[in-house]
Amino acid sequence: MPIVPALETVIILQDLDLMIAEVNDAQSSKTIADMGFNIDNLDKLESARKELLEKLDDSILRLYNRLSRRYSHRVVPVQNNICLGCFMTQPTRFTDTGNTQLRTCQSCNRILYKI
Ligand SMILES: [Zn+2]
Repeated sequence: MPIVPALETVIILQDLDLMIAEVNDAQSSKTIADMGFNIDNLDKLESARKELLEKLDDSILRLYNRLSRRYSHRVVPVQNNICLGCFMTQPTRFTDTGNTQLRTCQSCNRILYKI
């Protein structure tokens, strides 16, 4: 089943944000050289992120940014109709639509993808 492009984009965006956070953490703990990171790599991650943002609708980006203030994982899997971010059962079944629509958890509001 095809993955909706917006879902794919937010998953990649989350990945980049986690990687950028890792680089920033490495910098603050002064292990940056050990981990092979440098400022150029951070620039590459930031520019990949910027490119990605242009592909996202404003409404999805606003949701993503809102979730970013609360959670490090803004996009989480749903399995057997249970959000694996907050472990609440979703009232609407996921089997019908799979990952062809962008859906959010009814409880924690995180963006969901079906596994
Ligand atoms: Zn949830």
